Amino acid sequence: MLRGLEAAFPDAHCELDFTTPLDLAVAVILSAQCTDKRVNEVTPALFARYRTAADYAGADRAELEELIRPTGFYRNKATSIMGLGAALVERYGGEVPGKLKDLVTLPGVGRKTANVILGEAFGVPGITVDTHFGRLVRRWGWTELEDPVKVEHAIGELIPRKDWTMLSHRVIFHGRRVCHARKPACGACVLARDCPSFGAGPTTFAEAAKLVRGPETEHLLSLVTEGEGAR
Ligand code: SF4
Repeated sequence: MLRGLEAAFPDAHCELDFTTPLDLAVAVILSAQCTDKRVNEVTPALFARYRTAADYAGADRAELEELIRPTGFYRNKATSIMGLGAALVERYGGEVPGKLKDLVTLPGVGRKTANVILGEAFGVPGITVDTHFGRLVRRWGWTELEDPVKVEHAIGELIPRKDWTMLSHRVIFHGRRVCHARKPACGACVLARDCPSFGAGPTTFAEAAKLVRGPETEHLLSLVTEGEGAR
């Protein structure tokens, strides 16, 4: 299955746009209950307006809320972002720390967010257990656990540490594009031969192919028609 994921998504990556660790931390906070695409529409203006942790700490709340409103839950997110800015200024000299134990103490930063920041901004291997990752590894029988932290540890035991970040990206890509929660595209899936949940969605290629999403669709379908996937 790892080989299939690699063939499907050789260049999988974090789909949030960012330049600095601070940008990334803010983008991940905004991505809660929101698509990365929508976050990426908002962040250019946001990052141009607020460049440092101190800028966020001292932000005019109404202005910040207006900028992030399209991402939903904007009041809570503004509170987290302003709190994040203040905590970074007070405790870390305005810089985003590069350790899990420090990151998880910051407002708006849970373990999932911290792992994204570590993997993307600091190159520290991390497993990001979001809704897609958890759903897929359970569908594949890699674990039966539900708790994201337990899932993270269980998968960490199965996969070499150096591969954690890329695995996370690939699994999340697969969850977004092919293995959907309600109607997975089994008949057009590169992992079909090895997947114990084959049949959870349509199994004919014609029907399943219509469910595949994203810019890699043509590549993903060609892998299947050329004999890599589906049964
Ligand atoms: S075969 Fe179906 S359930 Fe299994 S990974 Fe592919 S889309 Fe998901």
